Amino acid sequence: MSELLTIDSLSVRDERHIILSGFSLKVARGEKVALVGESGSGKTMSLRSLLHILPSDVEITSGSITFNGTDVLGCSARERRERLYSRIGFVAQNTTESLHPLMKVSTQLCDAYRQRHKAGRKEAAARARELLVSTGMKDADRVLSSRAGQLSGGMRQRVNIASAMMDDIDLLIADEPTSALDAHVRRQIEQLYARLSDTKQFAMLVISHDLSFVRSLADRVYVMYAGKLVEEGLCEEIFSSPAHPYTRALISLGNIVRKNKDEDLDCLGDYVRPVSRDNASCAFAGRCRESRDECARAVSYRRLSETHFVRCNL
Ligand code: SF4
Repeated sequence: MSELLTIDSLSVRDERHIILSGFSLKVARGEKVALVGESGSGKTMSLRSLLHILPSDVEITSGSITFNGTDVLGCSARERRERLYSRIGFVAQNTTESLHPLMKVSTQLCDAYRQRHKAGRKEAAARARELLVSTGMKDADRVLSSRAGQLSGGMRQRVNIASAMMDDIDLLIADEPTSALDAHVRRQIEQLYARLSDTKQFAMLVISHDLSFVRSLADRVYVMYAGKLVEEGLCEEIFSSPAHPYTRALISLGNIVRKNKDEDLDCLGDYVRPVSRDNASCAFAGRCRESRDECARAVSYRRLSETHFVRCNL
């Protein structure tokens, strides 16, 4: 498979902390990739770096991002619109906030498409309806004439997916697509993503706390901790033979959502603190139950197989 997205050695910081340190990730055309880790691990900032939507006090200090052959960090705003935003569909975590509360769904889906494609109202409306139906929406016409507040969480998720696919995208990014849904709707949304991944040609990058969803969808998985990758591999490698103690702990938890940032994760204890992101020692050492003397040495990202890498001294 040829490469679509390459994030290479990306480092990001704000005024006080290092947020990402030498973060790298690749997505090939048509591939389904998952990025997992607790809140505070740096997942969202890696995504915001790619989409060029960093907060004003956050800066990229080194590294590169290439999408479809375009240097994302070096291109102009116009090039970014034409080569990045029109080729990437984004499904935000908060599906309520990402929809305008006063505008009808049809207007929200169609306006941007009409502007970008110089399309007429009829063509845009037909595409919006077709995409909503493709997400399994049973009553597409009623939904198109509704506003966000009149829709359930599962319906809003489907509207956001349809919105993300309005252009001919190469990559669909979904940020926590199954959070805040009840078990029944979550299962439906999981099945929808699995179906889209089988029937559509685009690649997927899913950021998720929900490891059962990741396991059912992803070809490859990246595990992040404290701004660095600690493990990456084929989905099968990560779930059958996880090499990093943090990965093993996450898998034993299944779904790694905390109610607030200070709440411990049962088998991990504590939470990801904004320290130790710029030195060579193991950032996980303070929480690791397998820590021993050799862990004080600098830790490198080493290869276990052609596709499997880990950052651990054991
Ligand atoms: S290097 Fe040591 S402390 Fe760090 S994850 Fe591996 S075993 Fe745990």
